[in-house]
Amino acid sequence: MSIATLPRIRLAELPTPLEELPRLSQALGGPRILFKRDDFTGLGLGGNKVRKLEFLLADAKKKGAEVIVSGAGPQSNHLRLVAAACKKLGLDVVLVMHGSEPEVRQGNFLLDQILDAKIIFTGSSDRSEVDLRINEVAEQLIKGGRRAYAIPRGGASPIGSLGYVHFVSELQSQLDQLKIRANHLICAVGSCGTLAGIRAGVMLSPVSYELCGITVSRPKAECKARIESLGDQIVHLLGHEGVTTATGVGWEVHDGYIGPGYGIPDERTWDAIRLLARTEGIFLDPVYTGKAAAGMIDLIRRGQFKSSDTLIFLHTGGSPAIFAHADKFTS
Ligand SMILES: *Cc1c(COP(=O)(O)O)cnc(C)c1O
Repeated sequence: MSIATLPRIRLAELPTPLEELPRLSQALGGPRILFKRDDFTGLGLGGNKVRKLEFLLADAKKKGAEVIVSGAGPQSNHLRLVAAACKKLGLDVVLVMHGSEPEVRQGNFLLDQILDAKIIFTGSSDRSEVDLRINEVAEQLIKGGRRAYAIPRGGASPIGSLGYVHFVSELQSQLDQLKIRANHLICAVGSCGTLAGIRAGVMLSPVSYELCGITVSRPKAECKARIESLGDQIVHLLGHEGVTTATGVGWEVHDGYIGPGYGIPDERTWDAIRLLARTEGIFLDPVYTGKAAAGMIDLIRRGQFKSSDTLIFLHTGGSPAIFAHADKFTS
């Protein structure tokens, strides 16, 4: 089955720009660096989740859904974009958040208020409990006679990941047009759906670059297992079983850049955010891309990438979360 025949609702402004960053390369004395600007996917201040929602909400609509339930934390980019997409499509939306209501309404949580999303707090700081509550809330709604559709944290399901299978061919036409042969694609890894989709995409149509994921939460082994399992399900969904064993595209996940923990930036994160802003006028985010860029910078400095290499860094969005850390920059 071709991905083009699967249900999809257009929500993203595509293709996103592919931008050369010569001043960053120069500052690092390192390889050629291009940013793939998925922070510019258009809807609701953009980000990688828009590509996933094109397939997830098409599936929801196909199944007759009228209310969407998903979950994560108050500064979740995923939830902000679920809410924005639901408003655009005229669907009701319930967001399940771990912990209790933050004292300050800032960043993504502020945007969720403006979007008038219904928000439920679990009262527990355990992030994985959110997954259970998403399903419970959806079941309650269904018992109450509503057609509810649950989206897992991060939209990390085989259907959501299709957005990043599609991404691979989009990026390839841009590279072909610019006659660029890339050696590495670097991206942040959270719920793993993005890298799983990209990996499935490059399994189906081989590319010149290897994949380099930088996890911001789960340990490397857990990420690799999730990415492989999601990847197999995606390939299955697309009816290409045979490919699973036949391809050997290089891919790696680094877990040395998580710092103090998920959602807690460290000095390397802030350094990366400042460097990108001050060399290229690009805003990273404190949870994902700041840490992934810190990882890329460290790997360049440690000689992991050759100066003759061409790197593509996938900017997955998230800059609204910077505003929840205003104190960091006001002293
Ligand atoms: C969710 C998110 C990621 C991680 O993507 P996954 O598919 O969850 O691995 C990276 N960057 C930003 C800004 C995100 O919001």
